[in-house]
Amino acid sequence: MRPLARRFEQPDETNAGGQSSSYLVDARELSFFLWEQFDVEGKFLGRPPFEKLDRAAVESVLMKAQAFAARLAACYRESDRDGARLEPDGSVFVPPAFHGLWSEFRRDWRWTRYTAPDRAGVDGNGPFPLLVTQVVSEMLIGANASFMQYAGFSPSAVRLIERHGTERQKELFLDSLRSEEWDACFCATEDQSGSDMSAIATMGTPIGEEIYAVRGEKRFITAGMHSLTENTIYVVIGRMTGHERSAFSLSCFLVPRFWVEPDGRLTSNNVDCGGVDDKMGFNGCANTRLVFGARGVTRGFLLGNRPNVALLQLANLMRAARISTGLHGVGIASSAYLHSVQFARQRVQGRRFTEASNPEAPRVAIIEHHDVQRMLLEMKAKIEGCRGLIGKLTEHATKIQQLQCASPVDASAIDRQTKLILLYTPIIKAYVSDQAWSIATVAMQVHGAVGYLRDRPLEQYLRDIKVLSIWEGTNYMQAQDLVRDKLVFGRRSLLMRYFEEDIQRFLAVRQEFPRLADEFDQVSSAVAALAGALRSIKELADGGRLTAISQFCTRFLEMFGEVMLAWVLLENACVAERALGRLHATHPERAFYSGKIKAARFFIYNILPSVADRAELIRHAESTFIAVEDAEFAFAGSSDPSQGRPGRLT
Ligand SMILES: Cc1cc2nc3c(=O)[nH]c(=O)nc-3n(C[C@H](O)[C@H](O)[C@H](O)COP(=O)(O)OP(=O)(O)OC[C@H]3O[C@@H](n4cnc5c(N)ncnc54)[C@H](O)[C@@H]3O)c2cc1C
Repeated sequence: MRPLARRFEQPDETNAGGQSSSYLVDARELSFFLWEQFDVEGKFLGRPPFEKLDRAAVESVLMKAQAFAARLAACYRESDRDGARLEPDGSVFVPPAFHGLWSEFRRDWRWTRYTAPDRAGVDGNGPFPLLVTQVVSEMLIGANASFMQYAGFSPSAVRLIERHGTERQKELFLDSLRSEEWDACFCATEDQSGSDMSAIATMGTPIGEEIYAVRGEKRFITAGMHSLTENTIYVVIGRMTGHERSAFSLSCFLVPRFWVEPDGRLTSNNVDCGGVDDKMGFNGCANTRLVFGARGVTRGFLLGNRPNVALLQLANLMRAARISTGLHGVGIASSAYLHSVQFARQRVQGRRFTEASNPEAPRVAIIEHHDVQRMLLEMKAKIEGCRGLIGKLTEHATKIQQLQCASPVDASAIDRQTKLILLYTPIIKAYVSDQAWSIATVAMQVHGAVGYLRDRPLEQYLRDIKVLSIWEGTNYMQAQDLVRDKLVFGRRSLLMRYFEEDIQRFLAVRQEFPRLADEFDQVSSAVAALAGALRSIKELADGGRLTAISQFCTRFLEMFGEVMLAWVLLENACVAERALGRLHATHPERAFYSGKIKAARFFIYNILPSVADRAELIRHAESTFIAVEDAEFAFAGSSDPSQGRPGRLT
């Protein structure tokens, strides 16, 4: 076991302003993630491109990130209650504390977003392994996700322009975006076009070399207008005038909020804010309706000067946003879990189950009740599992950072890592966001009525988390991407093969852990059930029963998520077994490790078995797929006029 000294420490629960913090972080847990679960020190530090980094340098950055997270958390509730709004003069109000925090973020944390090998990184130490960046991002997003959404798209926009932009576009935009004097946001959604991007109506009409007049209205645009930066580059999805309406005729326009004149001055580009949404959560972030070209010509550049290839150009940007959604889920739900543990230790209520009718028996803290323990174990297993699931993807990305530095570059090794990233992305987006919501509802249940009050952060966590299953492609769209596009029709059979090779390699160490033999068997069975379900789905596809598949995509993705969590948790249990073997009987860390084994057991025996049930459901799709007409849901208001009229009681 690696020494635990020098790990970054759990601070007390106060923030820089001295108030009680809404954000709780378990530093020991994050240390485990980096140094024991993923062995970042052994596998990555000290080797190119991380040759200048050692564990002390990483620990120091983590401590600074923890301190900055506490400062972000200090205005978490305030930025919810005094949220972003449109002022009568047309400007957008942003929570006041965000202005100072933004300058600090730009100065100290911008590096976390640029991790290519050629970047200087922090303090000239070169890039950080993405696994470290994941931990930093989890803390900052968990502390105040509304704040972190400002400029959340900028790094992806930089990569988009670096990869696809013309020389002129790179020259005009990249430096200001990289320095975060400007930011970028992503504009796809319109009133009639949410999941269905083929319905996008925004148009671009050529008016000069590379330049188009862009006209249309976009909805729900995250951080669409604000005064934190001096200019914003809108990555706008539209189509060229005269081109047919389909998802394959979408083009990507780079539209600056302020036009850059040849002498460098910024002038109006006729982009207006038509409203700031009054929404359920993330109220500190301005979600805007943007109007392009209504009051005069809005000019934009056609990305790369290439029409009709927006979906191809944007694949990486959308993937990054989906992974970030998973990080939002883990960051916020982890704090909800830690609040629950803390509350359950303090709240005294009732007597033990076996002594309920004995008035002499002591009243106990609710953490002693087995049902509360059930809730806490479920949250613990899911949080640690989801963090590890994202970690699996990030480990592949970190290996790519490393592989890119090797000479000669091993293209097939990079391809393998890339394919696994492709496979895990929709699972992370959808499964983690759903689990984050489930964790936050359980956290509120642990708190009882107190959790329902606004003086605790729980209700805000719930409100903030909900959108994660909706934005960046709804969770069904992720399931469809996984099942239909990637595994069944995507001709990417290697994706599943690589996954199976990796998980079977882990399962092969079973003999080394005799005390976890049953758990290994359970995970092996679930892996087989998952493979069986995929075979059943492929048989449906081969038989032309495509409609039946669509009703099972979500369940297949959930099964995949559960198998992956069981894998991660069992790996953690193995690390914990080894650690326990080395620690003496009274060592204070024993509880930390035995907690890991119990979390794995809880998940494997209480949640994982339903994977086999759902595999059976899919195997019997002929009978379990239920086709239904809309009038069968609710008679009134059905689309068939003979079936009833919109529901009035009279
Ligand atoms: C807070 C917030 C921030 C956002 N930020 C941005 C942003 O920065 N930029 C941006 O462009 N957009 C943004 N959006 C919009 C977001 O991306 C869309 O809400 C999302 O794509 C879903 O579209 P929709 O809401 O129109 O739902 P719909 O597409 O109307 O879907 C409604 C339901 O129908 C299901 N459904 C739809 N089509 C199908 C189908 N073919 N098969 C099966 N089921 C289907 C969906 O899964 C969903 O359950 C944001 C939204 C919110 C709430």
